[in-house]
Amino acid sequence: MIKEIKAKVLLSHYRQPDPWFGLKYNMNLYRGCQHQCIYCDSRSECYRIENFNDILVKINAVELLKKELPRKRVKGTIGFGAMNDCYMPLERKLKLTRKALEVIAEFKFPVHILTKSDLVLRDLDVLKEISKVYAAVSFTITTADDELGKKVEPNAPLVSKRYKAIKTLSEHGIYAGITMMPILPFLEDTEENITAIVKKAHYAKAKYIIPSFGMTLRDRQRDYYYRKLDELFPGLSQKYRKSFGERYSCAARNAKKLNKLFKNLCKKHEIATRITPFKTDTSKQLNLVQLGNKAQKIKKLF
Ligand code: SF4
Repeated sequence: MIKEIKAKVLLSHYRQPDPWFGLKYNMNLYRGCQHQCIYCDSRSECYRIENFNDILVKINAVELLKKELPRKRVKGTIGFGAMNDCYMPLERKLKLTRKALEVIAEFKFPVHILTKSDLVLRDLDVLKEISKVYAAVSFTITTADDELGKKVEPNAPLVSKRYKAIKTLSEHGIYAGITMMPILPFLEDTEENITAIVKKAHYAKAKYIIPSFGMTLRDRQRDYYYRKLDELFPGLSQKYRKSFGERYSCAARNAKKLNKLFKNLCKKHEIATRITPFKTDTSKQLNLVQLGNKAQKIKKLF
């Protein structure tokens, strides 16, 4: 089901830029995600999304952004999409992400987009404009194999299409790379998979790969994931139960060895293992503080 809603506020902010991507703000134009990855953490109870198949569309999002952005005192990176993919299939028709990017370009804010979709290429023109300030596009890739990708990320574009999109973005000067997370235990935690992901990243001219060797599992998310494993990979959920029980953090097998291999490959291909974030500009904020101090001093004089 697709339902339109009106939001009260759009941008949330981090007190400190987040350590992975240097985000200062985040916004969700949608709630729920059509990509339906079997491991998606957004099914966890804490997010209170009762039916993850339902997509809520914030129809007044662009209007809110136009109001909220000029009021922001700190020019920091805006993240697109936590708990949804801002380029899910619905975006092709609704163009909410595109319209939001146009507003961001107008106000000259930096962005970081996290997606699994090559639909982002549609907005290359706006991204080029934003990249005069800062624009990073990270594609989540957990397997280099299209066939496995189709099983674990059923409605997301093929992994090979994501690599092509990275190449196109890179060739147009957009800072593009990979978030290699999660790496699913018993399915994706092999030397062959890690090697293939990095090699393909190299050919696609990816600038960085941010890794995480393993996954997290909890409550509703775990139930759904195990149900899907039973359907797609009979016998595998038993291995998970035996290895991880009720644990939240589920490390990849041989995580240390894989990490070492990963780092060596990245070094060889000159791919960074961290993103270079936009340097949040606090000068405007400082100026306001200084102005405030000056005003107080003047007040004291009278
Ligand atoms: S693309 Fe991201 S938010 Fe959407 S289902 Fe997959 S993991 Fe969840």
